[in-house]
Amino acid sequence: MAGFAKVVIVGGGPAGLQAALTLGRMHVDTVVFDDERPRNSTSARMHNVLGWDGTEPARLRAAARNELQRYPWVRVIDGTVRGARRETDIELDTADGPWHAENLLIAAGVEDALLPIPGVAELWGDLVLPCPYCHGHEHAEGPIAVISSGAHAAHVEGLLRGLTDEVPHFEPEEVASVARAGDRALITRHDGRTAEVAAVFIPPNPRPRSSVATDLGVRVEADGIVVDALGRTNQPGIWAAGDVARRLDPHVPAAVVTAMAAGLTAAADIAAAGAPPPRGSAREG
Ligand SMILES: Cc1cc2nc3c(=O)[nH]c(=O)nc-3n(C[C@H](O)[C@H](O)[C@H](O)COP(=O)(O)OP(=O)(O)OC[C@H]3O[C@@H](n4cnc5c(N)ncnc54)[C@H](O)[C@@H]3O)c2cc1C
Repeated sequence: MAGFAKVVIVGGGPAGLQAALTLGRMHVDTVVFDDERPRNSTSARMHNVLGWDGTEPARLRAAARNELQRYPWVRVIDGTVRGARRETDIELDTADGPWHAENLLIAAGVEDALLPIPGVAELWGDLVLPCPYCHGHEHAEGPIAVISSGAHAAHVEGLLRGLTDEVPHFEPEEVASVARAGDRALITRHDGRTAEVAAVFIPPNPRPRSSVATDLGVRVEADGIVVDALGRTNQPGIWAAGDVARRLDPHVPAAVVTAMAAGLTAAADIAAAGAPPPRGSAREG
């Protein structure tokens, strides 16, 4: 089966679903493809999202999908966009066959290349965490460890010191393993010394999850798809939003609310780009 939509959104996380809501409210024919692998799926609770603080991340996504049903111009399809190419329009390779779009929003999120320390992947999102704004407060009884180096370590340690007095720092190469010890984390160094802490923060090291951007010649750098303040990429008709897009300032947190804001911003620009010209602008006679 082949399909067509004025706008296709790759990724139904906070960025893509918010963009779909904005486009739906502007009666723009929109399809969202999503394969249900959100970045925060290993966390039982989501924080620092006004109105949803402390709830399961999946509840926000389910509520958003439910709300989108009010807008018949929006369809959400469960499935992966496997690749893309530009013909006269944008062609996307999906399990449903080729889908064609006039405009594309890439909101496919990222995956994290975690430190290769035994135990880190198993505890990721639980006791090993990326973001003090999202999960620092819950562990403020301390100590909260930082396994990182350089500017990232200094930045995160500074934030965590606002929450707790004890913020032990470990260079990644000195740590042999991280393991659960009850509701705390046990860090074991290569020299055998151990430290029990309330939680561990590490650098997330995000990587784009989908090849769609590079397939279409979209400019991608190490820290994400290059976009302007409206989410426009270097390719006409292609926008990006959320974690997959490079933040204009690296200190802006990659978070649910910032992803939603970026989705809304890009969608508003897409809607404006497709809007009919103002009355009187067409040549008369
Ligand atoms: C462990 C952890 C915990 C976090 N906790 C919090 C928190 O408490 N509060 C907070 O504000 N932020 C938190 N974050 C950050 C937050 O998860 C992200 O900033 C947010 O999810 C970004 O939204 P997004 O829509 O850009 O991407 P995502 O939420 O990752 O959504 C992207 C979606 O695109 C889909 N997708 C990808 N490629 C394709 C494809 N080719 N075809 C179809 N679908 C595709 C994925 O399956 C996914 O559903 C956390 C991050 C991590 C790593």
